[in-house]
Amino acid sequence: MLNIVLFGPPGAGKGTHSQRLVSRYNLKHLSTGDILRSAIQEQTEEGIEAAKFMDRGELAPDRIALKIIGQCLDEFNGTTNGFVFDGFPRTTVQAAEFDVLMKNRNTAVSLMLSLEVEYDELILRLEKRAQHSGRIDDGDISIIKNRIQVYNQQTRPVKEYYKKQGKYVEIHGMGTVDEIFQKICNVVELIESR
Ligand code: ADP
Repeated sequence: MLNIVLFGPPGAGKGTHSQRLVSRYNLKHLSTGDILRSAIQEQTEEGIEAAKFMDRGELAPDRIALKIIGQCLDEFNGTTNGFVFDGFPRTTVQAAEFDVLMKNRNTAVSLMLSLEVEYDELILRLEKRAQHSGRIDDGDISIIKNRIQVYNQQTRPVKEYYKKQGKYVEIHGMGTVDEIFQKICNVVELIESR
């Protein structure tokens, strides 16, 4: 299986490149942010709890993110070539638990692709996205900045977890979408040919 963790701060382009990876390599897209937003709309117990954190730009509890991913793996494992994990894992606790979830299902993360984008560019992209996304956490510059801060403090360390496993690859995320996606594909094809 080809299991890609697509990593990077809010606004780095994870959603855009996930869509492209999914269609190029015939994978299943799992975005914990999208799944949580659906749960909020459906007013499930987890959605109601997660919303309290998400609206402020904080992370939802690890327990909720892990439960969602476990359920998705059970739903799709065996019926797909692999997954693109978009926005997960976001803490080192999630990363360690994720390894266990994958191992129990006889699979593993193939690689982490980390999209590197400068701070000023992230702010510009998120402000632009805010004009049409309708997301509460895009709606206010202080929440946008808080999400980037939460990324730097709680999520960035996840890179070290995958570096230690020799699965970490950095992608310079500035330039056109086509240019960046080409770099991503070069890495994926190298991994696949091993
Ligand atoms: P972005 O990365 O652009 O901010 P996402 O849709 O990935 O957007 O995430 C939106 C919000 O959903 C996050 O700020 C966080 O509150 C919540 N969230 C998404 N994935 C996770 C996760 N794995 N763990 C905890 N919270 C999450």
